[in-house]
Amino acid sequence: MFSTLRKSLLQELEASQPSTHFGTGWISGVLSFFLAIAGLSAVVCLYYPQLLTVPEIRSAIDVDLFRIALHVFLVAGFLLACISLILRQNKLLGFTALTLILVAVSLGGANADTSHELTSGIYFGLDWFMLNLTLTGLIFLPLERLFRRNNQSVFRFEWREDLFYFLISSLMVQSLTYLSLAPSNFILDNIQLASVQSAIASQPVWLQFLEIMFLTDFVQYWVHRLFHRVPFLWKFHAIHHSARTLDWLAGSRMHFIEIICLRGLTVIPMYALGFEESVIYAYLVVVYLYSTYIHSNIKFDIEFLKPIIVTPRFHHWHHGIEKEAIDVNFSIHFPVFDKLFGTYYMPKGKWPSGYGVAGHPVPSGYLRQFAYPLKFSAAKANS
Ligand SMILES: [Zn+2]
Ligand SMILES: [Zn+2]
Repeated sequence: MFSTLRKSLLQELEASQPSTHFGTGWISGVLSFFLAIAGLSAVVCLYYPQLLTVPEIRSAIDVDLFRIALHVFLVAGFLLACISLILRQNKLLGFTALTLILVAVSLGGANADTSHELTSGIYFGLDWFMLNLTLTGLIFLPLERLFRRNNQSVFRFEWREDLFYFLISSLMVQSLTYLSLAPSNFILDNIQLASVQSAIASQPVWLQFLEIMFLTDFVQYWVHRLFHRVPFLWKFHAIHHSARTLDWLAGSRMHFIEIICLRGLTVIPMYALGFEESVIYAYLVVVYLYSTYIHSNIKFDIEFLKPIIVTPRFHHWHHGIEKEAIDVNFSIHFPVFDKLFGTYYMPKGKWPSGYGVAGHPVPSGYLRQFAYPLKFSAAKANS
């Protein structure tokens, strides 16, 4: 029964036009479904803050304001579910949203509370996932509607895989942060860099910001190129390239081991050289939004910027299915590195005809993709 319900829900979410047009109850149904899931997740976070919330977010958020926002989410979800039930022939989205909202309310809704004592320990970033998904979605979903490059739906091919990658990397924020900072901490513990660090921190913040962008992109360029050139590493990076459609969620598709290696190495110049903390935080926000943007299904007319900064068309060519798109455009911020090292490719005004790895050898699904490079290594070791 659960699998039939899941199938029918997916069919409704992935419904094609014209049954998703404004006035069909689809938009209100999808929104109410999202608000219901977000509301229920927030209630669960209020019950288990120790296990499901990030301490830094907990300390930054005013709990009273959070409860008001949660109340608004649940009421808005309820109203939108009612609108969808009135307008739409298929009542599944509306009823599912109503049920989830009822569960959230019966668990206490915005008044849900915990008696658990908060101590430091292992946690999963469910609050980080919902916050990240809501804010990034609020920025990119309207942009992808207004300036879309192609007419793909929000619930396009393999959207669930990419959302699951987004969920896992948000939930595992504690271990990912710890492992990504491990190489930098090792350097800081063993190498004396005090004079370099004080010289760097004394510079104006805008200059520090630009330096971080150049240094991290330089390291990222070579690590990325290595992941393409070394067959063992390529098996991990092929997961990122297996996406056959690109949008704001597609960049999340990355093997856990690759995330640790890539971040662990690229953050070394940023953390070890003593840049100011506020500049590092600003950079982290910018790089997150920027890498989402270059994967997105957005076509702005910013061709005049293409010699200076990476544009979506530049990175889409990195994902292109064409032969010419193999091993090109490794930079994430500045195409100058590709120009310098001979890997720049930007055919005038053209976009790739498709995305993915030739022959599509990577299996679908998170677990199969997680095992894909490891299986390959085990098979090689046994042969
Ligand atoms: Zn790549
Ligand atoms: Zn990419």
